[in-house]
Amino acid sequence: MCGIVGYIGHREAYPIIIKGLQRLEYRGYDSAGIALYDGESIKLSKTKGKVADLKEKLENEISTSGTLGIGHTRWATHGVPNDVNSHPHYSNSGDLVIIHNGIIENYDSLKKELINRGYTFKSDTDTEVLINLIEDVKKNENLKLGKAVQIALNQVVGAYAIAVFDKNKPNEIVVAKLGSPLAIGIGEDEYFIASDASPFIEFTKNAIYLEDEQMAILRRGKDIKIRKIKTDALVDPYMQELQLNLEQIEKGGYDHFMLKEIYEQPSAILDTFRGRLLSNEAVIKLAGVEDNMKKFLAADRIIVVACGTSWHAGLVAEYIFEDLARIPVEVEYASEFRYRNPVITEKDIVIAISQSGETADTLAAIKLAKSKGAFVFGVCNVVGSSIARESDAGAYTHAGPEIGVASTKAFTTQITVLTLMALRLARAKGTMSSSEFRHHLIELETIPGKVEEALQSDAYVKTVADIYKDSKNCLYLGRGFNFPVALEGALKLKEISYIHAEGYPAAEMKHGPIALIDEQMPIIVIATKKGHYEKVVSNIQEIKSRKGRIIGIVTKGDVSVKELADHVIEVPETIECLTPLLTTIPLQLLSYHIAVMLNKNVDQPRNLAKSVTVE
Ligand code: GLU
Repeated sequence: MCGIVGYIGHREAYPIIIKGLQRLEYRGYDSAGIALYDGESIKLSKTKGKVADLKEKLENEISTSGTLGIGHTRWATHGVPNDVNSHPHYSNSGDLVIIHNGIIENYDSLKKELINRGYTFKSDTDTEVLINLIEDVKKNENLKLGKAVQIALNQVVGAYAIAVFDKNKPNEIVVAKLGSPLAIGIGEDEYFIASDASPFIEFTKNAIYLEDEQMAILRRGKDIKIRKIKTDALVDPYMQELQLNLEQIEKGGYDHFMLKEIYEQPSAILDTFRGRLLSNEAVIKLAGVEDNMKKFLAADRIIVVACGTSWHAGLVAEYIFEDLARIPVEVEYASEFRYRNPVITEKDIVIAISQSGETADTLAAIKLAKSKGAFVFGVCNVVGSSIARESDAGAYTHAGPEIGVASTKAFTTQITVLTLMALRLARAKGTMSSSEFRHHLIELETIPGKVEEALQSDAYVKTVADIYKDSKNCLYLGRGFNFPVALEGALKLKEISYIHAEGYPAAEMKHGPIALIDEQMPIIVIATKKGHYEKVVSNIQEIKSRKGRIIGIVTKGDVSVKELADHVIEVPETIECLTPLLTTIPLQLLSYHIAVMLNKNVDQPRNLAKSVTVE
């Protein structure tokens, strides 16, 4: 996920673009770049770092004149964040320039074809492949830019919001969208382009939000032309009047980044799948696993090292890896592991999980593991982060930037990547039949839709939050795959509402925590249909006898828990190992609403930081 901005009209483009990029930095800030065109020469400047770094560099480097321009603030998905991989990207001839937000899934095969046809590449990005594909189509068929973009996009699999211009056409920008957002601001003889409306809100309130598989040609002084990319049919532009203020736009209309990120989970999980989960072919592609399959198959055990929410994702992975791939897994707090002289051998695989990829204890733990000869596999969200660089191989979660300190979409996308890994290994080890494997893939593919459905409980969760917001303590119980979800639910509540909460395996309650139960104590019990359901129902009965107040997280259509619990929140049905991806959702919403009702700073809770880069 990154931010794109563009302008074509009668004003100087530079001030609009640089300010616009600053407003879009919440979408990513690995690197930034701008290309300006004054009708004679293209001036392009880009750099690793934030928009402020670009501003400093650019103003010494190039003249900022030009009434056409495009800019980009990057959140890397393909290629580490460095100057070369930053956008905009030129085509080989130097005539075409592009900015792109999204992932071109089939970039690798397209790149190989282009290399065969003599194209060369400076960067590791999928974006540079796309601009050269456009150039190739344009040259071979002697087409106008718009047509070439359209034909090229029909060969592309993936997600994009792009803006492209051609040195030989100083009055035109071509934009297109699939899966990533793109807003067009319509002024008097001028057009603005941006990932959201914040870069142009002070210039115009009239906006067109391009829909998926649509492209538009923006010509200076001419009416906008919108077409469907697939069918070429012209579309009537639907112009809206913007009602939101700047802050609301940056948060996509949500009150907090945390809520926005909770709601982004269906698309974040989809992005994690992109190019990896090919259910039609019954294939999972994870280069980091594929390239090291021998090591994985020979491994005696997997040791997961992580902290906080990532540690909980690691615990879910323990259940999934052991159940599906029959590989023994140990899950370690990185801070404990690094200091306790652990037994590590060359036959161990260490999986390090960290959203930021900068968590100090996890980084130290993998250095230790490497020094003992273990193979280290990183699961990070931030491309090119220290853990990603330090690992022998890895898989990114591609969740997009997470701004809220309390992790939400990072957790579910970590579980998604780890599930893909477990399934791939299960297939390779033969611990799963091909029909079971296929069934899991098909079911995994339904998860984004089911997360969407789970989010529909939001209004009801809010009413539950209102009832329990003044509680002093709270217990979260779960069994099996959902025991780590109970831990994560309790952590979410603690972090942002400052209410004391504990997560337990439901059966452990009898060994201590049951003493805490009275009529004041809310107990959130994850009791989905599959997975020790009867046992959990018995645990609920035990709580009921002690007058505890029960909030059940149940499978849609549940009857038994409904009879016992004070409230039930339903999630859609899925196979057991995938339930954590759904049961997590109402727990995130519950913590969020309680914290908002208690007037807490949801996005920046006290004493915490987004990435813990000190031990
Ligand atoms: N895939 C492109 C890159 O890595 C765009 C990144 C994005 O939208 O997150 O540069």
